[in-house]
Amino acid sequence: MKNLIKSDSNTQLAASVLNHHLKGIMITNLKGRIMVVNDAFSKITGYSSDEVIGKKPTFLYSGRQGADFYKIIWAELHTLGEWQGEIWNRRKNGTVYPEWLSISGIRDDEGEITHYVAIFSDITERKLSEERLVYLAHHSILTDLPNHRLISERLAQAIKQAERKKKKLAFLSIDLDHFKQVNEAFGRPVGDELLITVSNRLKSAVRDCDTISHLSGDSFAILLTESSEVEHTATIAQKILNLLSKPTTLDQHTIIISASIGISLYPADGTDNKTLMAHADQAMSRVKKQGCNGYQFYSEEIGIHSLERIELKMAIRRALERNEFELYYQPKLDLKTGEITCLESLIRWQHPEKGLILPAAFIPMAEETNLIIPIGEWGLRAACKQARRWINKGIPPLRIGVNFSARQFQQEGLLESVLSVLQENDLPSSALELEITESIAMDQVDKGIKTMNQLNKHGVRLAIDDFGIGYSSLGYLRQFPVHTLKVDQSFIKNLTTNKDDAAITAAIISMGHNLNLEVIAEGVETESELGFLKQHDCDGVQGYYLSRPLPADMLEEFLLTGNYRELAGTR
Ligand code: C2E
Ligand code: MG
Ligand code: MG
Repeated sequence: MKNLIKSDSNTQLAASVLNHHLKGIMITNLKGRIMVVNDAFSKITGYSSDEVIGKKPTFLYSGRQGADFYKIIWAELHTLGEWQGEIWNRRKNGTVYPEWLSISGIRDDEGEITHYVAIFSDITERKLSEERLVYLAHHSILTDLPNHRLISERLAQAIKQAERKKKKLAFLSIDLDHFKQVNEAFGRPVGDELLITVSNRLKSAVRDCDTISHLSGDSFAILLTESSEVEHTATIAQKILNLLSKPTTLDQHTIIISASIGISLYPADGTDNKTLMAHADQAMSRVKKQGCNGYQFYSEEIGIHSLERIELKMAIRRALERNEFELYYQPKLDLKTGEITCLESLIRWQHPEKGLILPAAFIPMAEETNLIIPIGEWGLRAACKQARRWINKGIPPLRIGVNFSARQFQQEGLLESVLSVLQENDLPSSALELEITESIAMDQVDKGIKTMNQLNKHGVRLAIDDFGIGYSSLGYLRQFPVHTLKVDQSFIKNLTTNKDDAAITAAIISMGHNLNLEVIAEGVETESELGFLKQHDCDGVQGYYLSRPLPADMLEEFLLTGNYRELAGTR
């Protein structure tokens, strides 16, 4: 054939085309013996044409594909006359390489196949970049650790194996504590360095057969395939905590961090990777809530808690959309004048199935999930609208009290939104009193004071709610521009039976007065409590003895009767 091709000018032309073709070309006869190869063939495989003519191409076999693979190729060539695909071959120097190969039959005038032409290209480069892509798709670029996708795949595989071999597995969800602050204080590059340090420390805590993953940002995970007993896993978790808590020096800063670890075990805590990962996360969140820096195994109790949380969160969202919240109002009586000075708005949830729900059942969750922001906005708006309605009805202008959560207080633009709601309802700032709990005032003191000062400057009154149970001191209060102290109802409850509580209440009243603050007692339920408070010169009271929190229309009736004046008058 080689000689044949060179026999006339047409075939010479064909030979020249063959040799200048960038792809490797090999022509065989029906029996598979090589008749012609081109220069690219020699370049790719390392064999010259003299070395291969007359041979079967089996010398190229790499051993990576079995006999069945070649059988399929031949079968397709016989039936369809062509085959295309990826194949691994061996070069003369022994290296194995991937090539993209297409083989087709050459037919004679009668349509019978007489020869086969194989055209192939070396796809090593493409393969490498493909592999690189696959690698990148499965690893964190920063830490080079397996990413979420890869550890999920490994976990799924490990579960299958563990199922067969009746083995156990452990999955650890690891989250750094307060990592955001590191980023903020020292900058992103230092944060990134820290993540690399963390990944190295994690590597030193486990064996090679375990998978460590960098899921995202400051969260990592570890799959332990061999050490699945609870005690052993606990030891590893503790080891990780110890390693991570070692100080790190980066860019001349010494940084100390800690982590929260949640652990789920296969098969006890779940038999699929989604469940195991979710349960480890829930256990980790529990650690965070309990103050970080520790580990916790998943338990069913945690799971039920999380499930309820998710449902409650969705239900709160729906309640906002469907307008199921409502405000009740509880009056505050001035003991000196006998007048109602303020109405505290208290939120209620009219659940279509469950009926009336009190704030204790949903406010804490709303705070955790930030849903308190829209709820708070709704509450402020609804209270101010109601105040406007009462003024329009000729009911003497009364101050409206609105409870604010810590989260709301840390919100940017709080002042502006408060002022705009007042303006929308054409109310003076003095018509509003914001009640904040002691802990809010103490949390992020500087920011809190700044916001309070701004509100105060604009004439909005501020009250410290539940005073006495928090950790603030009266001395501290000097810094806060508040007008009112509301003594927590737990003191009032025991006023007449517990000498300590009586003494504390009396002390709060007199010290409050020294600071020029109005002092209000919450939760007054009996005549004797009221008597004690009057005797100790308390400025005002609130409580069931005066009135329970009431819907707006019922409160109007209460105001109209004017009976409350007697309570103050009995002094
Ligand atoms: P709080 O602001 O200290 O409100 C006083 C709570 O004591 C109210 O409970 C009220 O119904 C109850 N109470 C009043 N007088 C008496 C009494 O004589 N005896 C007894 N045993 N209880 C009395 P409520 O309405 O269940 O609210 C509980 C807490 O939920 C409030 O405590 C407040 O911190 C929060 N809250 C209520 N509404 C809102 C709101 O709109 N936004 C925010 N962020 N928190 C709210
Ligand atoms: Mg309150
Ligand atoms: Mg209170």
